Amino acid sequence: QSLRNELSNLDRKHVLHPSTNPKNQVDHGPKIIFTGGDGIYLNDIDGNTYIDGVSMLWNVNLGHGNKELAEASYKQMVEAAYTTTFYGYVNEATVRLAEKITSLTPGDLNTVFFTSGGSESNDTAFKLSRFYWQLRGYKEKKKIISLRRGYHGVTVAAQRATGIDAYRNFSGSTDPDIVNAKPHLTECELGDKNHPEYEGCIRDIIEKEGADKIAAVIVEPIQGAGGVHVPPEEYLQAVRKLCDENNIHLIADEVICGFGRTGKMFGVDHWEIVPDFMSVAKGITSGYAQLGGVVMTEKIRDEFAQYDAMLAHGFTYSGHPTACAVGLKNIEIIERDGLVERANTMGRELDKGLKYLEDKYTFFTNRRSRGLLAGFDLMKDPEANIPFDHSARAAGNLVDECYNRKLLIRPFDFEPGMNIVAIAPPLTISKNEVEKIIHIVDDSLTAFSKKI
Ligand code: PLP
Repeated sequence: QSLRNELSNLDRKHVLHPSTNPKNQVDHGPKIIFTGGDGIYLNDIDGNTYIDGVSMLWNVNLGHGNKELAEASYKQMVEAAYTTTFYGYVNEATVRLAEKITSLTPGDLNTVFFTSGGSESNDTAFKLSRFYWQLRGYKEKKKIISLRRGYHGVTVAAQRATGIDAYRNFSGSTDPDIVNAKPHLTECELGDKNHPEYEGCIRDIIEKEGADKIAAVIVEPIQGAGGVHVPPEEYLQAVRKLCDENNIHLIADEVICGFGRTGKMFGVDHWEIVPDFMSVAKGITSGYAQLGGVVMTEKIRDEFAQYDAMLAHGFTYSGHPTACAVGLKNIEIIERDGLVERANTMGRELDKGLKYLEDKYTFFTNRRSRGLLAGFDLMKDPEANIPFDHSARAAGNLVDECYNRKLLIRPFDFEPGMNIVAIAPPLTISKNEVEKIIHIVDDSLTAFSKKI
């Protein structure tokens, strides 16, 4: 049998896939078997070449096939692939990366606790926030407030904080210490357009639960998996102020936004706020190694520095030397090649293309973007605010049309009435390649318009 069939059969039997329909997987086998890639392109076992229009999971910021990252990994692996950071041990790559990250984060975010990914980072931020309040004598401050449509990962606590019902309900927990603020950003924006206090939904929860019970508020500077929601202009400053007034930590989940994706090094830089904790992952290594971290302020670190017993938290791969060496090289390349600025200039090209599509197709609406993080809605009648029938799978349908034309992008349609499509290519993308993406989406929209 062919290699394709062999791998497909083995996959169906032996792999349970994340965020995938298991029945579909077992019935039909894997959708694509990747074999390699270069820049924005990915190749598969059947000889197809795709454009990776979402950097896989918005993380492959340097694009595929980057040899410098591979070499940095190899060099560290042959020297000391893995040593632990438990028991006060450390290695040069971990220390250098912590120093580098904290030279880029705003304000006095100067200390990093390393993890292996975004979910672990958010769980860690929750625990460290609660630990801080314990040390300060606020025994009751434990609750975490998160936003509707926020996505924070899939460990039990991070998934409970995720404001997307399908995920939230799968966490297998009803942890009362994690409270969802409704409505989500877009509803706030629509409902309160002329209201100066967009943060009102969080304020209501603080009043209801009591500030003495709340440890932290967690927000993505720009929501990603919830459908690419850019907050109203004064929103994050208002949330920062609200947290300060109530003695509550602000956790910025920068897992998607961090390291240049939105045209600034970090998402919060657009609004010039300094959170108490910042969760990072994904773009920290462009996906070439599993790494995450929680960056905290000096004030918080100073409190921990007085604690004279074991900090009972840590992952086997906290500060993994090889992952940290890849992270260091990744940031070096981002800075050397001006990729944050490139995200801005190419983001403007992408937005220009999306505007052209918005003008051309009546059902294409509400385009939004920052840097190379972009999204748009499909609606039956945007003027009258009428969505497509959920059963029509509008976003999924358009994404299928793009897939048929060898462009990989993502639909978000986990709630009735929601048909959002996201585009987030590698930051290394060229103008010509942005045009290619727009061209394919244009053809796919035309095909889609004939089906609806
Ligand atoms: N936070 C945000 C904003 C994310 O987008 C994600 C993943 O998509 C996570 C957290 C979870 O990260 P991971 O999948 O690395 O655990």
